[in-house]
Amino acid sequence: MSTFKQTASLEDYLEAIVILNQDGKAATVTAISKSIGVKKPSVEWAINKLSDAGLVVHKPYKDVKLTPEGTKIAHEVYRRHKILRSFLVNVLEIDPDIAEVDACRMEHLLSEESLKQLEKFMDFMLNCHPGNLVWHETFQRYLKYGDEDSELKARFNQ
Ligand SMILES: [Zn+2]
Repeated sequence: MSTFKQTASLEDYLEAIVILNQDGKAATVTAISKSIGVKKPSVEWAINKLSDAGLVVHKPYKDVKLTPEGTKIAHEVYRRHKILRSFLVNVLEIDPDIAEVDACRMEHLLSEESLKQLEKFMDFMLNCHPGNLVWHETFQRYLKYGDEDSELKARFNQ
């Protein structure tokens, strides 16, 4: 596993619980450990931290439950994750598996300001802008053939 998995931030645990619950699965320590790819003692350590912060409740041998405050943060992280993943896959044409991992790294770092602007940019490029098909197709050609592509050269020199 990549190094970031071992240092998964506490937000990742909240996110993992939301995703498990959404899939109708109980957020047990084992399930969280599998979903994030860290060992159970690390999960237990993180859950204790989150419990101290009032974000989760964990009774022995039960699954981990989010408190209302934990739920709020978890949904916010997951919302960021989905926006970033969509940007990487649908705009930058990144492989979905890589996008998934990168989205999980980026979701903790971006300011709300940048994220909002990114969302608008995506909406503009993918939904509103009348030329969206042209730029998308052009970008795909560029990724495939580089700027030596004669059709692209012709377009840029128009
Ligand atoms: Zn994530």
